[in-house]
Amino acid sequence: MKKKLLTLHTARLNNNCPTCFGTDGLEFTFVQEKTETLFFKKPAKQIDKKLYCHTCKNIIYPVNWTEDIERVYAYNKKIAETNKHYLKVKPLFYILIITALIVVAAIAYILISNL
Ligand SMILES: [Zn+2]
Repeated sequence: MKKKLLTLHTARLNNNCPTCFGTDGLEFTFVQEKTETLFFKKPAKQIDKKLYCHTCKNIIYPVNWTEDIERVYAYNKKIAETNKHYLKVKPLFYILIITALIVVAAIAYILISNL
């Protein structure tokens, strides 16, 4: 089982950084964790967000967000939601089901023809 982070959306903000007060350093990143098995690609339901300031090199945690940042966050979260990944079944899964059906059919055929 492999785990991978998918970046759904990133956005630069021109809001003031709560830490260094710079106006051109903040960036939102929205990610979704994905688990990959032989049969499925299964993304997590939850979207994780991170607010990073490139000016002071800090992660800005939600407790320090201003109302303006909250507003920009709500807007960008909607964009991230539209890029969200959903469960995907890999071809191997279908191959396995078809193989199983053929085996069942073959067994049934042998049983019937031996009656
Ligand atoms: Zn900063």
